[in-house]
Amino acid sequence: SYRKGGYHAVRVGDQFAGGRYIAQRKLGWGQFSTVWLAYDTKTSAFVALKIQKSAAQFVQAALHEIEVLSAIADGTPSNLKFVVQLIDQFKHTGPNGQHQCMVLEFLGDSLLRLVKYNRYKGLPLNKVREICQCILIGLDYLHREHGIIHTDLKLENVLLVSTIDPAKDPVRSGVTPILERPEGNINGTVTSLIEKKLKRRARRAVAKISGQRASMGGMGEAPKSERNIDGINVRCKVVDFGNACWADKPFAEEIQTRQYRAPEVILQAGYSFSVDMWSFACIAFELATGDMLFTPKVGQGFSEDEDHLALMMELLGKMPRKIATAGAKSKDFFDRHGDLKRIRRLKYWPLNKLLIERYKFSEGDANEFSEFLTPLLDFAPEKRPTAQQCLKHPWLAEKDSIPNDMRTESSVEKVDVGISNLKIKVGK
Ligand code: ADP
Ligand code: MG
Repeated sequence: SYRKGGYHAVRVGDQFAGGRYIAQRKLGWGQFSTVWLAYDTKTSAFVALKIQKSAAQFVQAALHEIEVLSAIADGTPSNLKFVVQLIDQFKHTGPNGQHQCMVLEFLGDSLLRLVKYNRYKGLPLNKVREICQCILIGLDYLHREHGIIHTDLKLENVLLVSTIDPAKDPVRSGVTPILERPEGNINGTVTSLIEKKLKRRARRAVAKISGQRASMGGMGEAPKSERNIDGINVRCKVVDFGNACWADKPFAEEIQTRQYRAPEVILQAGYSFSVDMWSFACIAFELATGDMLFTPKVGQGFSEDEDHLALMMELLGKMPRKIATAGAKSKDFFDRHGDLKRIRRLKYWPLNKLLIERYKFSEGDANEFSEFLTPLLDFAPEKRPTAQQCLKHPWLAEKDSIPNDMRTESSVEKVDVGISNLKIKVGK
């Protein structure tokens, strides 16, 4: 899809925004964009440059994301530490058209990578606590301060925070930015060799910046041996606001990635902030066990949706009839008694038993963790605790949690370079 209306092809050393940003290395890509590590010559910092595909609907989507990110950036600094920061935005014209670009603070690996590095065994519970706190602080900020629902929380959309800031500490980080493209008049082979070398250098830089190398073997590499993440203090931020919306103007009926989707979304019974809390519970379970909480599949005579509802009820008990029958799509799945039409026999396996029997949790750990998660998985959306309430849960207060001074506004540390330069106009 590197054609008209599609992605913009980037090479190491390419310049953006009149030479302010210089491409260092590709960090990732999504359906809508490619994301590059770039060096900001104005602030001498590394940033993530998200370059959207150029067709009209992608430009539109980028402008929406920029609108959300700009709103978020207006809030209280202490909370801002847990949602990604927009630093700048501009348009870039290339052979495939005009691309809306976003400059974001540079973050590290996603939680999905973290779980992979740990060989899908589940992280130690003290790490799960730390990560849960970060996500909840981010969610509380989005929900309460801005009335924004993320609508696509999942492991890929929570990124670890870089532990070394090369801008503040260039010596310790030992990272030299690439400032220009390789010389022009060399033939293709040599160019690609040089690029390979540059890429290798950049990859090392990324690993250093994101502070993952020592503990997890560097970015993008498959684990060779077991990684020990006990030593690192995990911090993370919520990213990807492409699907986020204000609760008072939801624009999509079908939201959330399948496995993290709340029951009211499947039933089309309306939704609010509590859909994020459902996804959050799914994330917490996945971090602790290495497995997704719900992995519905199409079966003989039933749909993925119906299987999903059945899996929920096997874990959480029967859905109250009033809730089961209240959605626009309820009749597709439930009869008037509130029983599933096509999946009749459910095998109940409550969360604490699942944790003990399948994941070998101790009884104490299993009970405490399921007491934390179960209320978040209430079929009645309005009964789910809010992020703010959830932050007060005793399960989070156990050892090794985020120090209190990081959670209050009293000790606000200056926010990343970008914020002071933040002047964003959202186009129509
Ligand atoms: P899309 O909207 O196209 O799905 P995302 O915002 O999800 O794009 O970004 C795509 C990928 O780029 C992410 O999965 C991640 O690997 C990487 N990425 C995105 N933002 C950042 C960031 N701020 N720092 C580092 N990597 C990032
Ligand atoms: Mg994405």
